[in-house]
Amino acid sequence: MKIPFNKPYFAGKEVQHIVNAAYWGHISGNGVYTQQCHAFFGEKYGFKNCFLTTSCTDAFEMAVMLMELQSGDEVIMPSFTFVSTANPFLLKGAKIRFADSMDEHPNIDLDHVEELITDRTRVLVVMHYGGVAVDMDRAAALARRHNLVLIEDTAHAIDAYYKGKPLGSFGDFAAFSFHETKNISAGEGGMLVINNEKFVDRAEIIWEKGTNRAAFSRGEVDKYQWVDVGASFLPSDLIAGVLFAQLENIKDIQRKRVAIWERYHAGLKHLEAKGLLGLPRLPDYATNNGHLFYLLLEDKKQRNEMLTFLNSNRVHAVFHYLPLHSSPFFSPQHSGRELHNANRFSDTLLRLPFFYELPLELVDMICEQVEKFYFS
Ligand SMILES: *Cc1c(COP(=O)(O)O)cnc(C)c1O
Repeated sequence: MKIPFNKPYFAGKEVQHIVNAAYWGHISGNGVYTQQCHAFFGEKYGFKNCFLTTSCTDAFEMAVMLMELQSGDEVIMPSFTFVSTANPFLLKGAKIRFADSMDEHPNIDLDHVEELITDRTRVLVVMHYGGVAVDMDRAAALARRHNLVLIEDTAHAIDAYYKGKPLGSFGDFAAFSFHETKNISAGEGGMLVINNEKFVDRAEIIWEKGTNRAAFSRGEVDKYQWVDVGASFLPSDLIAGVLFAQLENIKDIQRKRVAIWERYHAGLKHLEAKGLLGLPRLPDYATNNGHLFYLLLEDKKQRNEMLTFLNSNRVHAVFHYLPLHSSPFFSPQHSGRELHNANRFSDTLLRLPFFYELPLELVDMICEQVEKFYFS
């Protein structure tokens, strides 16, 4: 049997919460479990304005609607990210200028962001790759200096911190994902966190299809009507029930995932010391949230050989993002600037199996296979 790359995990009460919601007779959006999830994020991470969505992609779409971008407005984001970071802006006719990664880490290289800013630039998006924080003091200073909306793509970054403060609390917006492949999962799901109060009232309306239903259900208005443009971003309370069951177990899930990460690191660091491969690096200001574990190989050829080797030895290893700037869809629009580090991480990065139920003995076995690649 092959060790899978990912395996969904039910932490305990997922099914019970689904049954409860059905029994209580409210399975559409914004029910008891949605509110419990929001309250959880408020209490644990201090996120005051949370909106569960059907995906992280939708959370981005909602943020973009709130920003009221004009056609031709420009957005800066890393090229080494998932398409969902980019797609929502294009729906609004914005123009994307992709930034490179740092030398040491796939995160956006803030040293070179300023060169990309023009008088049309409205938004800076940062993505915390592998849950490792971008330098948010610097990102926030850049955004402030140039009057940009700052968005954190926190799809990888639940329960991760920058200088002791949770990721998701720095941007005007943060977009979380609860997709099957993330630390905390509802199958599909997401959440928009809004830290800039000026967007909050309208967010509630857009979230509820352009109506004032949220205010109506709190008894603040006597009619429930169409008051703005909107969309349907709420997940069913059945999904929220699954998510809440995961959140109830977040300590255990995170403890386990960080233990897997550390076991990989301990098992492979001698290969890094010998200069045979690179391992994830953690700046002083960041924490490790056990989202993923990767190797950096010499070049694309060696990375692909390692992929073939591991996969033929029953370890399902995978590569990660193909840079967005050179994708079939975007490359005709790209200026031709070379994004050397984004290309390099795309060519040389390899991710190892990573999921809650992965036994530590199998982590050891995977490390031995990696070692065998060099010494057999
Ligand atoms: C998973 C992911 C997304 C999209 O999440 P969905 O919930 O599937 O829409 C966005 N950005 C990054 C960096 C991701 O890894």
